[in-house]
Amino acid sequence: RAKEEGRNTYRLYAPEMDTRVRSQLALETALRDTAETGNGLSVHYQPIFDRESGALHSAEALLRWTHPERGPVSPGEFIPLAERSGLIIPLGRAVMRMVCTQLKAWQQAGLDPVPVAINLSARQFWQGDLLNDLKAMLKGCELDPRLMSFELTESTLMHDTDRGISTLQRLRDLGCKVAIDDFGTGYSSLTYLQQLPVTTLKIDRSFVSDLGTCRKGGCAIVAAVSGLARELELKVVAEGVETDAQLSALQQYGVPLVQGFKTGRPAAGEDFAAAYLRGSAGAPRLSD
Ligand code: C2E
Ligand code: MG
Ligand code: MG
Ligand code: MG
Repeated sequence: RAKEEGRNTYRLYAPEMDTRVRSQLALETALRDTAETGNGLSVHYQPIFDRESGALHSAEALLRWTHPERGPVSPGEFIPLAERSGLIIPLGRAVMRMVCTQLKAWQQAGLDPVPVAINLSARQFWQGDLLNDLKAMLKGCELDPRLMSFELTESTLMHDTDRGISTLQRLRDLGCKVAIDDFGTGYSSLTYLQQLPVTTLKIDRSFVSDLGTCRKGGCAIVAAVSGLARELELKVVAEGVETDAQLSALQQYGVPLVQGFKTGRPAAGEDFAAAYLRGSAGAPRLSD
């Protein structure tokens, strides 16, 4: 009887497990192909604005993957897979290459590009040959390093303080800015923060989404991070701004830079350029 039940249980759960593992493996195989060929990869650009003047400040590069059969796969699904499998190293290199190429193309079209921020996973920061790859690409494209910046999370930086600081410093020495992404969600010591050669804090979307209602102390955290950034002379960006109520709260707390669906969704390079980039003559404005 017990044996029978055991077997039934096995029969109930095994096929399901099997399907999940299989589909993960299939996705990883497809991603591996993509990492080799570059097929199906693109980068979208989301604008970051100066809240007060409405001027375009910079953009964030967000990787997009279109699976040959499944269509677009969310980064929330394929980025963790890429991180676990190590594919994030070649994919990250592809992102850097696409961003360099895009920046150069905008310049050649007579547009005045803004700095573009690239997300870096822990593996890319600690294992990849980041600095050399970056230098080679900037040189290949004859691009001003000040047009390129990076976003890392607190947990990535926490891994090895001294080495982290020295890698960040080398990025800074090249002229690249560095932001701490999703700030407030990780575990970070303020003493440590003060030592980090970063330029910008990005307040995580979860705190910004609480701003309209002040749920879960979101307001207190935004106010505290804004004050902290001011004291440490860091720039601060609010991520995931979706409503007017959030925009006015951000004004109240003195957060100068905003990014979110309210001010501009991530868009393909040409759409981003058409909407936001100008020749050196005109300054781009917040659309509403
Ligand atoms: P992230 O770096 O925090 O990027 C911001 C995410 O928030 C993006 O999701 C963006 O589309 C989304 N977002 C922007 N404004 C709003 C808003 O107003 N409301 C809501 N609900 N969402 C908003 P996406 O593109 O799906 O990327 C998710 C994460 O995947 C990123 O979070 C980043 O951690 C990772 N990622 C994306 N591209 C890359 C990449 O090229 N390399 C690496 N290593 N990671 C990447
Ligand atoms: Mg980011
Ligand atoms: Mg973020
Ligand atoms: Mg995030």
